[in-house]
Amino acid sequence: MRPGKRDVIVSEVGPRDGLQSIKRTMPTATKIEWIKALAEAGLSEIEVGSFVSPKLLPQMADCGELVAATRDLQDLTVLALVPNLRGAQAAFDVGTPKITMPVSASQAHSKANINRTVEEAVEDVARVNELRNSLSGDYRPGVEIGISTAFGCTMEGNVSEDWVIELAVKLAAAGADSVGLSDTTGYGNPAQVKRLFTRLRSELGEKAGGAHFHNTRGQGLANVVAALEVGVTTFDSSQAGLGGCPYAPGATGNIVTEDLVFMLESMGLKTGVDIDKLVSARPIILSGLPGENLYGHVQDAGLPKGFQYA
Ligand code: ZN
Repeated sequence: MRPGKRDVIVSEVGPRDGLQSIKRTMPTATKIEWIKALAEAGLSEIEVGSFVSPKLLPQMADCGELVAATRDLQDLTVLALVPNLRGAQAAFDVGTPKITMPVSASQAHSKANINRTVEEAVEDVARVNELRNSLSGDYRPGVEIGISTAFGCTMEGNVSEDWVIELAVKLAAAGADSVGLSDTTGYGNPAQVKRLFTRLRSELGEKAGGAHFHNTRGQGLANVVAALEVGVTTFDSSQAGLGGCPYAPGATGNIVTEDLVFMLESMGLKTGVDIDKLVSARPIILSGLPGENLYGHVQDAGLPKGFQYA
């Protein structure tokens, strides 16, 4: 890892968001090798999988094994996605350091994605928080929420900004440590990003979470800059831009970690990530998923002459 304090946390979601949208399953050993290489490159948060029914997403069936194999890596916070209370119990059973729960701002997306109404999903967050509070000993996992379809929904179209903020306040009150906003569908634009994160941060204060952008319409990095300008310091991304959402038709990958790190470092913001090491982890993906499409620019163009880290 490159030493020094980070200005921005780049939270890698490729092993979860990326792999869950690909039908083939990456072998567990390859996932572990990939996660270790990402941590070695300096990424300090990695979402390694999802505690979801293996009938629904067989690609994620090894999440418990992945947590066990990676949670003690140095300088790394391991996260896993949980859709509901049962998933949270499974995550806590194997000592997952931090969980992230998606709560959709759109009723139609919520039903399709987790088979719950939005109100039921908020109740689930309160139950998960109770479960966490009942854990004994020193183990107190983090619980973060990402509001999905916060910038628009492929089924419902426009999503009211007032409603997104109202929902964020409810989720914080239900006991979440932080509530972030996800552009699941790639509908977001920089002006909207600024408005919503400005309001989120003024309503939630320290509980205002990070940004999760997809690059579906090419707005991903522009949206990152907009969010940075209003004080957001945590961004999800996936190596090689793997990803999408099986219930958001046409939603292509997350923003590309390599390009995000390059942009942030070029802007003078420390990420702690070594771009060369990151790029050298890309072939691991292909070793587990031969022929898969990988995205991004930095790995092809290389670093500019005279490039210096922040
Ligand atoms: Zn996503």
